[in-house]
Amino acid sequence: MIKEALHTVKQHLPSHVLLVAVSKTKPISFLNEAYKAGQRIFGENKALELAQKQGALPKDIQWHYIGYLQTNKVKYIASFVSLIHSVDRFKILNKINSEAIKNHRIIRVLLQFHIAKEESKFGFSIDSVENMFKSNNFNILKNIEIVGVMGMATFTRDTLIVRNEFKNLKIIFDHLKNNYFKDSESFSEISMGMSGDYLTAIEEGSTIIRVGSSIFGSR
Ligand SMILES: *Cc1c(COP(=O)(O)O)cnc(C)c1O
Repeated sequence: MIKEALHTVKQHLPSHVLLVAVSKTKPISFLNEAYKAGQRIFGENKALELAQKQGALPKDIQWHYIGYLQTNKVKYIASFVSLIHSVDRFKILNKINSEAIKNHRIIRVLLQFHIAKEESKFGFSIDSVENMFKSNNFNILKNIEIVGVMGMATFTRDTLIVRNEFKNLKIIFDHLKNNYFKDSESFSEISMGMSGDYLTAIEEGSTIIRVGSSIFGSR
């Protein structure tokens, strides 16, 4: 079933769009099944669960962290995580940088923006990011690489609202690209789109979709 579901999602994907299979709360056996069907990128939203699954599964998997991250949990994932989507404040960026130094590596991250109507969704505003970019404390961080932006749309059936929020994230991406990352080839990713809205997200410029329930079933 997982194999067929993966196939269905992939059928709709242009070749430039990366699929993160969101396996949070699902047992190792489910991830193994997706792995056997060819999936190599998995996303989790709890640091300890991610570390545990990484230890139990093949080493050629790329692990993405997609959830709210506490500073005291970064150490569990810093040695291997391939991309952290959910950087939403300077404090966590600073912590990721220091853990990256300890592990002699550079950790790739996305800046999460608040694009939804709901109060509860985390993320930067464009102003807060631009202020951060101006600060010395930010500019001394050398072991993080910002490769793009991430956002979550409002949980609604109204596709017009969702589409406009995705358009907004694309505008934020273009603004940052043009003003701060013009010469950076690596600043190229827009992580948006989940099970319910990934087709809309792709139409609006997504380069990474994060799909859980459509692959692994409801949680
Ligand atoms: C759970 C989760 C997803 C996947 O959601 P589905 O609706 O199951 O596809 C994507 N992104 C984030 C940040 C999540 O927490």
